[in-house]
Amino acid sequence: MIPFLDLHKINDRYREELKASFAQALDTSYYILGPNVKTFENEFANYCGTNYCIGTANGLDALTLILKGYIEIGRLKVGDKVIVPANTYIATILSILHAQLEPILVEPNSETYNLSSEDLESKLTKDIKAIVMVHLYGQLAEFEGLKAIADRHNLLLIEDAAQAHGAVSSKHPTPNNQCPKAGNLSHAAAFSFYPSKNLGALGDGGAVTTNDKELYETILLLRNYGSKIKYENEVIGYNSRLDDLQAAFLSIKLKYLDADNSKRRDIARSYLEKIKNPKLVLPFYDGSENHVFHTFVIEVDDREDFIKYLNQHKIGWLIHYPTPPHKQKALERFSHLKLPITEQIHKRVISLPISPVLSDEEVNTVIEVINAY
Ligand SMILES: *Cc1c(COP(=O)(O)O)cnc(C)c1O
Repeated sequence: MIPFLDLHKINDRYREELKASFAQALDTSYYILGPNVKTFENEFANYCGTNYCIGTANGLDALTLILKGYIEIGRLKVGDKVIVPANTYIATILSILHAQLEPILVEPNSETYNLSSEDLESKLTKDIKAIVMVHLYGQLAEFEGLKAIADRHNLLLIEDAAQAHGAVSSKHPTPNNQCPKAGNLSHAAAFSFYPSKNLGALGDGGAVTTNDKELYETILLLRNYGSKIKYENEVIGYNSRLDDLQAAFLSIKLKYLDADNSKRRDIARSYLEKIKNPKLVLPFYDGSENHVFHTFVIEVDDREDFIKYLNQHKIGWLIHYPTPPHKQKALERFSHLKLPITEQIHKRVISLPISPVLSDEEVNTVIEVINAY
């Protein structure tokens, strides 16, 4: 059996380091907002190239706190409309609803699966105040075009970078040769450290990155009961803190993120070069580091039949995602929307194993089995 994702194998590589940081946590007993959170926040801001990072309880909260933070500082108001790709994971849309904003579901580009800046401008109305772009499957959305639109119309541009830790665009290096990276391509970005993500904790975790000092200070308050000084509450806050132990684990795993991402790209290149089967559509990839292959998503006409075949040959798979958000019961009030591209995607996609702990032999087996389909 080639598993879709072997989390044990992924984390077992760091067994000794993880155990040492657990022993230290046990000895020092800083459980909540201890020094490990601050250290990781600094490291992750530095990694993304942003001025600030705020650890949160999970990725959904990171997104929600960005939006609530902008409401708190008056950049958004309850009821404002927010553009979001219709084919995203439901969390992106839920965050907009939790912040009492109105999601405007927009079809993605059918090749990149991401929001495209092409004819997005024609969809803008007066009450649209923000765009959330999602770097879906690990590939950067077309941020240059989206940023130009956001700037022209004074909109907020926000990233859902939950699948794209470390993705970097080499197209526009700054004068000091820094390439823009996921987390630093917009006004504020949300990350998830759910265990299966490219940078995954051993439990839940999330973060916001931003260069906006006012937003940073507001989210610091919001994530901790509206409080900076113990028992002084400045705003109506939440409890959404990154766990100190998870922060310690994340600091360890961050050191290996780039190596893992490059392993994922190597596997993707092998798949793209060697899988030759007219029944399958392989993903678009420009060959650069703008894709960290959180998932390797292919399309097939008869998915049921293909799944049977993969099961027979003991190849793991998952579907990202089986049901589009607007067809979920929870989002029934959006079910009337006509989103044919999104609906096609959800019917046709299936993800192949692409974790950094796959061996060359396993990768070759996947290729051989799929070519014989
Ligand atoms: C995982 C994910 C989230 C939510 O992250 P959690 O940590 O599970 O709350 C949001 N958006 C996308 C695109 C994701 O993949």
